[in-house]
Amino acid sequence: MELVCLDLEGVLVPEVWIAFAERTGIEELKATTRDIPDYNVLMKQRLELLDRHGLKIDDIQDVIGTLQPLPGAVDFIGWLRERFQVIILSDTFYEFSQPLMRQLHWPTLFCHRLVTDEEGRVVDYKLRQEDPKRASVKALHSLNYRVLAAGDSYNDTTMLSEADVGFLIHAPQNVIEEFPQFQAVDSLEALKGAFLEASDRRLDP
Ligand SMILES: [Mg+2]
Repeated sequence: MELVCLDLEGVLVPEVWIAFAERTGIEELKATTRDIPDYNVLMKQRLELLDRHGLKIDDIQDVIGTLQPLPGAVDFIGWLRERFQVIILSDTFYEFSQPLMRQLHWPTLFCHRLVTDEEGRVVDYKLRQEDPKRASVKALHSLNYRVLAAGDSYNDTTMLSEADVGFLIHAPQNVIEEFPQFQAVDSLEALKGAFLEASDRRLDP
């Protein structure tokens, strides 16, 4: 029994906060954990900026609804789901990713949650658990699944090492060099081939 765990942003869809910052022109929303290493400080700043610009959850989803999955991603996820059980493991939020998940035809998504008040203002967020990607792969192993995984960045590496086979896709050079134990591919087409190869079943390409 095999299952594929996939990261979302940078693999199937653009980096959502960055794309959102570009669409709204709110430069400060482009900050990432590279600029503000403390994730809680970063999230507080993001929520504060949304509030200051009067952006409620509906406005945010409208903007994100104008974004599109990366080229080839819709076909890729369809192809993958015909051959594997697939779970997207992401550090995004359900409310944030919804318009993009709709375009991907709602694959299973494990991520975090935003908290909104009655007026639709985003007032807080709830992280599902510590080290959620690794914990998810561990849990799937306890259910007797063999897990193949792919992601693009640092926050995926514990998932990749916990998985039976892990791949980097679209990863920056520094991540590729730091984690040579993971085969790196540069396209969704190449990732298809990598999954076929890593599978212990005989699958149609
Ligand atoms: Mg990513």
